[in-house]
Amino acid sequence: MRYEAPESLDTAVALLAGARGDARVLAGGTDLLVQMRADVLDPELIVDIKNIPETRAVAQEKGGWRVGAAVTGAELKENAALRKAWPGVVEAANLIGSTQIQGRATMGGNLCNGSPAADSVPALIAAGAVATVAGPKGRRDIPVEDVMLGPRRLSLAKGEFIVSFFLPPRPKGSGDAYLRFIPRTEMDIAVVGAGVNLTVDGKGVITTARVSLGAVAAKVLLVPAAAQAIVGSSLDRPAQDRLEAAARAACQPIDDKRGTVEFRTQVAGVLTRRAALIAIERAKEN
Ligand SMILES: Cc1cc2nc3c(=O)[nH]c(=O)nc-3n(C[C@H](O)[C@H](O)[C@H](O)COP(=O)(O)OP(=O)(O)OC[C@H]3O[C@@H](n4cnc5c(N)ncnc54)[C@H](O)[C@@H]3O)c2cc1C
Repeated sequence: MRYEAPESLDTAVALLAGARGDARVLAGGTDLLVQMRADVLDPELIVDIKNIPETRAVAQEKGGWRVGAAVTGAELKENAALRKAWPGVVEAANLIGSTQIQGRATMGGNLCNGSPAADSVPALIAAGAVATVAGPKGRRDIPVEDVMLGPRRLSLAKGEFIVSFFLPPRPKGSGDAYLRFIPRTEMDIAVVGAGVNLTVDGKGVITTARVSLGAVAAKVLLVPAAAQAIVGSSLDRPAQDRLEAAARAACQPIDDKRGTVEFRTQVAGVLTRRAALIAIERAKEN
């Protein structure tokens, strides 16, 4: 196995594109190294992207935020302005694992590990985040909901990797939230995760919304019908009921030791409603 730690995007792309066998990006390593130890993966080449400045920066850009794909959850939490603008995204990244894991784990790795239960992904999708990808043909932007195709399957071509995420500008009256259910208090993967991002007008009426669900299908879902269920409402009880119903209708979960189909479907409705209630409170404060 060869380990490279380039300092530029171009070198990283050239290494990944030129590899003969399996080539993997290394960010925090909290998935990759575990899978290598378990003999699930045996890459010929590992390209550590943490020395590439663009992958490690957090900055305001065009009224929104540009967050490097290799920024850790712990680093996100330390950024008070980002936390204020996107509390749901920062909280989701900080639900990943333990304090030790959060010091390594990145949102790029969380997304590219290709797990439908990845915690930061529903929050990013609800936020309308766009992934900026570098590859042999240059750069391109992909909405986060289009990166994952299914378990361990991504829409990235050979040689491509995620450089950063762009979180769009926040209109006044916006708030987001992410909630998950796990069987234990920590260090378990989500049985269901729900991300909600919305904007209210001066009267508290929801003008736009995005809803995303994790761990209830083969990939993290964007659920437009759930968003439509609450737009135009002030999230009164009938709107909450419509939201719950739309979230449940989108679920196509598996049955496993963590939860049955019925349980996951039920919890998806409940968590979506609770996340929306948090998001609207935050929106009214902003
Ligand atoms: C004890 C423990 C607890 C955990 N708890 C949780 C949890 O609660 N919630 C949760 O969601 N996850 C959890 N995880 C999984 C893991 O920590 C997260 O998925 C984490 O975000 C992965 O990020 P990373 O930077 O460590 O990725 P890495 O391990 O470096 O990479 C993961 C995968 O993504 C690829 N990759 C990484 N970065 C990029 C990029 N920029 N572009 C393209 N491909 C890339 C790698 O090649 C690899 O295939 C846990 C893991 C452990 C070991």
